[in-house]
Amino acid sequence: MKIGFIGLGNMGAPMAANLAKAGHDVTGFDMADISVEGVTMAGSAAEAATGADVVITMLPNGQILRKVAEEIVPAMTKGAALVDCSTVDVDSARAVAEQAQAAGLLSVDAPVSGGIGGAAGGTLTFMAGGSEAAFERASPLFDIMGQKAVHCGEAGAGQAAKICNNMILGVTMIATCEAFALADKLGLDRQKMFDVVSTSSGYSWSMNAYCPAPGVGPQSPADNGYKPGFAADLMLKDLRLSQQAAESADADTPMGALAQALYARFVEDEDGAGRDFSAMLPRFETRGRG
Ligand code: NAD
Repeated sequence: MKIGFIGLGNMGAPMAANLAKAGHDVTGFDMADISVEGVTMAGSAAEAATGADVVITMLPNGQILRKVAEEIVPAMTKGAALVDCSTVDVDSARAVAEQAQAAGLLSVDAPVSGGIGGAAGGTLTFMAGGSEAAFERASPLFDIMGQKAVHCGEAGAGQAAKICNNMILGVTMIATCEAFALADKLGLDRQKMFDVVSTSSGYSWSMNAYCPAPGVGPQSPADNGYKPGFAADLMLKDLRLSQQAAESADADTPMGALAQALYARFVEDEDGAGRDFSAMLPRFETRGRG
């Protein structure tokens, strides 16, 4: 396939490289001066999109996605597919899908989980929203860049799944960290805490697969000085998207709202910026109730 790839940052570059490695003809564009093995660089987003069967975008936010869509949709060939893998607000995802459909294009919102490691290893999970035909068109590419793709529903459903998942993740990580900090103060050994909770009703991905306590459970960023991993800044971004969506859908999400407020304080006023999101544990460790 002839693929245009726009946004070749931490995630986009390895994803595009994997598509090129699999034999696809990939033309890329990024605002920054970036080169990616096997990818031909274009001088503009529109140039990368011209003549492509599929255009993939991997951009920082919805505002930038809308701006890029203004440029590329008119340049794309009728019947081609626009696949946005960025994490953006549901409203932007739906607006871009409408714009693409009006121009006779297929479109999929397909945010990912799996992070930079998943992007490099081709093991991402895609959560996709769009028509069956659009999902089918993108599927062979999802198979190269990832290990699983779930068709979640119509336009915006992929983004909805992503932010709901990450809202649960933010809340359970905070709960896990505050419980470890309480256990410390009660004199409970962290390994014993893990042994019990990981096999009891308090278990979760945060405890079992990504334990925030160093030296306990499987290897995780906690064992590497809380170097990300999944940065607290990105968790804050996703929590903000979840609360923006909750606001526009009139959904009551008190735990999500509190998780957003805690991560905002951690990233903006404390030492959380650039640290893994599980560094909430050392944050709680040093605090009392006051
Ligand atoms: P990044 O900042 O490393 O990459 C974004 C790239 O987009 C940059 O290279 C930037 O120069 C480029 N860009 C910005 N505006 C542009 C424009 N107008 N035209 C062309 N290029 C432009 O970010 P990332 O970590 O690669 O994340 C990309 C997306 O994936 C985000 O939406 C993020 O939330 C999501 N995501 C990231 C991770 C992660 O672990 N990094 C995990 C899951 C999802």
